[in-house]
Amino acid sequence: MSEKKLIYLDHAATTPVAPAAAEAMLEVLTGAYGNPSAQYPLGREARDRVEGGRAVLASALGCRPEQVTFTSCGTESDNWAIRAALWQNRRVGRHIVTTAIEHSAVLQCCKALEREGCSVTYVKPDGKGRITAAKVLEAVREDTALVSMMLVNNETGVRLPVEEVAAGLRDRPALLHTDAVQGFLKVPFTVKSLGADYVALSGHKIGGPKGIGALYVGGRAKTPQPLLYGGGQENGLRPGTEPTAQIAGFAKAVELRRERLDEHLAHMAEIKAYAVETLSEIPGLVLVGEGEAPHILSVSLPGYPSQNIVTDLGEQGICISAGSACHKGKASHVLTAMGLDKRTAAGTIRLSFSPDTTREDIDAAAAALLEHKTRRFPML
Ligand code: PLP
Repeated sequence: MSEKKLIYLDHAATTPVAPAAAEAMLEVLTGAYGNPSAQYPLGREARDRVEGGRAVLASALGCRPEQVTFTSCGTESDNWAIRAALWQNRRVGRHIVTTAIEHSAVLQCCKALEREGCSVTYVKPDGKGRITAAKVLEAVREDTALVSMMLVNNETGVRLPVEEVAAGLRDRPALLHTDAVQGFLKVPFTVKSLGADYVALSGHKIGGPKGIGALYVGGRAKTPQPLLYGGGQENGLRPGTEPTAQIAGFAKAVELRRERLDEHLAHMAEIKAYAVETLSEIPGLVLVGEGEAPHILSVSLPGYPSQNIVTDLGEQGICISAGSACHKGKASHVLTAMGLDKRTAAGTIRLSFSPDTTREDIDAAAAALLEHKTRRFPML
């Protein structure tokens, strides 16, 4: 029996590890496995991998290596940046401005901080998921310690005007953090072009492994207070023996994506345009958000619950997501904030692409969606 090809259209959730990145990891796991703090050659070899990885990330971000600290994931980077900014600006106040469409890594951290006595303003998007810099800056007060604003929304692909907010904050004490987990190597930027003081990244969205992230700290941000206390690794800022294989895999994935970045971005944009064209032929299908990031497309079949669509397509070997879009049957906070009606929100699915996604993958997803719609009665 021939194995059916898996059609993976969920690259915003996670990506397969690029073979060369997996090879780099294996080499470290089985060869350069020393503890980077050890003083003998095996340890120094491991240290070289860590510092080499840091240099790769710094080059991709356009910053100095010492401004990049490895963390365990994007979530940790976000949490750390937010708490670090609050600590640095503790004499300014305990007010945070963020957006209602942030990832839970930011939103839940803000909720926890509210329980600890901070006040938070959640800036709402318009119906297309957009947030203007003016709206964010209007929410900034005298006592605002931090503005936290994502670069690319993970559900709609909308790119937020981080640069404009950075410019507007230049003469204000509030620091700026951006969650660039979905933007890194998907929309071109350097830390200088963004102007943010903290930039959070994650390895597993770009062909690297899970369990590795990074935080850029620069601009007006001072050396941050650590989130964890322990050994002196990562300049004492992020203790714990360095995950050398994860770092090697992350760095290799960054190198691979950067080598052919323009070609990759053009390919994903072309695939997205093709998907819009193809899926729009399905009667009743609507585009949600219409974000500009080339790898994320959000659409809805109003009246057809996204969990059913995802399960149905999944059984046919087609992986898409309602994941963020639908948590335990509740419409996502992003779609709710956008003011989408219930039927549209509940029918929203996300397709997300990689540089290897083909038109055939899109054709298969479109055919399965049309079939789903023909076969199933709407439930809402
Ligand atoms: N921020 C955004 C926008 C994301 O999409 C994700 C992952 O889905 C994260 C943060 C969390 O990253 P990680 O899975 O590395 O913790």
